[in-house]
Amino acid sequence: MNPTKFHPATIAVHGGLNQDEQFGSVVPPIYPSSTFNFPEYGKPRAHDYSRRGNPGRDMAQDTLAALEGGAGCALTSSGLSALYLLTVALLTPNDLLVAPHDCYGGSYRMFALLSQQGLIRVMFADYNDEKSLSNALDRSPKLVLIETPSNPLMRVTDIAAVAARAHEKGAWVAADNTFMTPIWQRPLDLGCDFVVHSCTKYLNGHSDLIAGCVISKTEEHTTLLAHWANVIGIPAGAFDSYWLMRGLRTLATRMAQHDQNAKKIVAYLRQQKKVSKIYHPSEPSHPQHELARQQQSAFGAMVSFELSGDPATFVNALSLFTLAESLGGTESLIAHPSTMTHAGMPLFAQKKAGIHPSLLRLSVGLEHIDDLIADLDRGFAAI
Ligand SMILES: *Cc1c(COP(=O)(O)O)cnc(C)c1O
Repeated sequence: MNPTKFHPATIAVHGGLNQDEQFGSVVPPIYPSSTFNFPEYGKPRAHDYSRRGNPGRDMAQDTLAALEGGAGCALTSSGLSALYLLTVALLTPNDLLVAPHDCYGGSYRMFALLSQQGLIRVMFADYNDEKSLSNALDRSPKLVLIETPSNPLMRVTDIAAVAARAHEKGAWVAADNTFMTPIWQRPLDLGCDFVVHSCTKYLNGHSDLIAGCVISKTEEHTTLLAHWANVIGIPAGAFDSYWLMRGLRTLATRMAQHDQNAKKIVAYLRQQKKVSKIYHPSEPSHPQHELARQQQSAFGAMVSFELSGDPATFVNALSLFTLAESLGGTESLIAHPSTMTHAGMPLFAQKKAGIHPSLLRLSVGLEHIDDLIADLDRGFAAI
């Protein structure tokens, strides 16, 4: 199949189908073998060792690359190892990485520690503050990482504008597209060189594996990242590659339903007297509402809000929303950033970053909307 002529929903459904010539298996088999035989002396096959290449992983990589409109993809053991791969493949110790000051906490910790070890230089900037962004870009970074919408306050970054400015300074540009997926946002079309995902989230969508990927716009970068993924030994395993493809098949359908449910939850939260603020790009008062409307084809299923009341009492009264980190699965989750995802930040730093002690973050899942709203009703009744 030539994936470029199909819609994302079709690409996601058809990844790896009907390639088995021996039995005509519609769904691809899993190839757990760590090694592949040489039919003759000096004559390797397409695959020799599964760290370097595995047929099932290749299928998942091709599907992900086609979904983002890239030339190729490296599928790795986690979202963080995907970001690590990009860093190692592109940067040497004197090179500067610019990352958002409110990027994913694990990414922040990794970049900060890599820089402490002298492996790269890093600078964190507020991409919604012109002074902070231009100060960072003026230092000639080698790589600029964008992450939009941000976590947990759903700030939106203008991908095309930042990519153009970073390119002017000679930098490569990568976007972490985990919150949006290629169904809702297309960073390569907006000028980025790479897209990174935590496949753990919406792409797999069932909260049952950890994986990540880097999709490259060019063949050259695809080859470079495949080389480095093998060198440092971080490619995803055969079973995880298979489960990821299985999760991906329903991606477009799941995202449509996440969108429907999230819209109704936001409308419900607007009517609650005990909600003092909603953080969602669909809010007309959101500072980048117009930008989000143009850049994304949906506003997203991650919704944060501040409560006038005790967050512990609210959360304890819920039975459908599970108190847990992570996001993007079929089940709805609620997180309290101040004591969970952002607990590593001292309180004064949380305050500076705008993370209020009563802030709650929802990953709106695929349950029936009436049941989700009845659950939130129980929370509001308790406070
Ligand atoms: C979860 C997440 C990551 C890290 O991915 P893992 O698969 O947990 O390693 C990176 N970026 C974002 C935006 C995430 O949500």
